[in-house]
Amino acid sequence: MLNGIHFLLTYTCIFECDHCFLYSGPGAKGTFTLKQVNRVLDEAENIGSVESIFFEGGEPFLYYPLLLESIKTASSKGFSTGIVTNGYWAETVEDAVLWLKPFRDIGLSYLSISDDPFHYGEKKNNPAKNAITAAETLNIESNSICIDEPTVSAQNNTTDSKGEPVIGGGARFRGRAVEKLISGLPQKDWESFTSCPYEELKNPKRVHIDSFGNVHLCQGLIIGNFMKTSLTDIISSFNPDQHPVVRAIVNDGPAGVVKRFGLEHEKGYVDECHICYQARLALISRFPEYLGPRQVYGLRDDCLDSTI
Ligand code: SF4
Repeated sequence: MLNGIHFLLTYTCIFECDHCFLYSGPGAKGTFTLKQVNRVLDEAENIGSVESIFFEGGEPFLYYPLLLESIKTASSKGFSTGIVTNGYWAETVEDAVLWLKPFRDIGLSYLSISDDPFHYGEKKNNPAKNAITAAETLNIESNSICIDEPTVSAQNNTTDSKGEPVIGGGARFRGRAVEKLISGLPQKDWESFTSCPYEELKNPKRVHIDSFGNVHLCQGLIIGNFMKTSLTDIISSFNPDQHPVVRAIVNDGPAGVVKRFGLEHEKGYVDECHICYQARLALISRFPEYLGPRQVYGLRDDCLDSTI
């Protein structure tokens, strides 16, 4: 049962992080309008089971008035609300309190702040830390998200139950992370990736939505477009068996997508998301209604698709 909706309020971000699985950055396009936000919030009420609404990106604080109004409306409808931010706006704790107080006053439930080497490295005046201190000052519940550079067993001396090296750091190998971070990491046999470890694809508990109307089960894996069909209908009529890519992942994991569509492939991949992302990238022109938007796969509209 769906209980969370995550708005990708904008794909634009001031950073262009190597670990970003959405290819967000200063040039990334796609920001919600207030009308679109209100439409989705009305639908979220109709669905009945939705409890929490998150706003993330890209960087949602780039559109401060829109973010403020969206949280206000979501809170007034009784949803618990959250924001995921990199905290770029928190130059000092005092300033961060100024930015956050209006959100506290309209009932923001939760603030999640990216604080890791990709965003701020060893920077002395760390905006993420200022934002966390400001949130604590205002009694806003908060946490920090820390994604490190990938590490392998040689450094962290960790193996899984089969003795395979475990890759530390917490990055998900999709989007720009595939382009930037996989070099030199250990790989496993492609046929070993027989399930999705991270998303409830059969009975989704949360979806991400973007301003193009896409409703994502996992970023880039689409089950409908709320600009064409009501979100209520998309959620109530979703059947994993009728979605060619989701069905293959649910039945046989990312390796099942490669087999099902007879895709060319490498001998090994870093993890489930790596092979899944590459397989989806190879299928994007075949299933444009199920895979996209193209910019999340690092493609411009005029680019040819790559092969796996
Ligand atoms: S990329 Fe594929 S394997 Fe990874 S979480 Fe998404 S659906 Fe699951």
